[in-house]
Amino acid sequence: LERTLSIIKPDAVRRQLIGPILSRFEAAQLTPVAIKMLHLTQAQAEGFYAEHKGKPFFDGLVEFMTSGPITVQVLQGENAITHYREVIGKTDPTQADAGTVRADFAESMRFNAVHGSDSPASASREIAFFFTDDEIC
Ligand code: ATP
Repeated sequence: LERTLSIIKPDAVRRQLIGPILSRFEAAQLTPVAIKMLHLTQAQAEGFYAEHKGKPFFDGLVEFMTSGPITVQVLQGENAITHYREVIGKTDPTQADAGTVRADFAESMRFNAVHGSDSPASASREIAFFFTDDEIC
């Protein structure tokens, strides 16, 4: 079984969508093995998204991701990284397939409700960014 790092972003938390979104993951056999809620600092958001530093959307992304609480969770399942990205849909909600989390809950490219790791290397980095080994069940 594989693990991926999932975030429910501030827009979705504000709109009371934690439950509906976690339900989608569980229904897709992506099982939470660690969950926490936190409010990212500027330094944490910049560190998490370091690969995007210098891109035109970076400052807005950091401002958005620090705008309110988020949930971070480790989800475990078969082919979890790719499967999760299918469940959430494309980054741009207007391009996301019907029935995906972003098609149903995202408002725009920036306010797109969720994050997911895009490779095994980023999953390892992102899980370790938020969780110690003893916090994962
Ligand atoms: P995530 O990494 O959050 O799962 P992703 O892998 O689908 O998203 P990336 O290209 O890694 O997308 O971009 C990271 C995040 O930056 C996006 O989820 C989105 O919130 C924001 N973002 C990306 N491109 C844009 C853009 N053109 N305008 C505004 N925000 C953007």
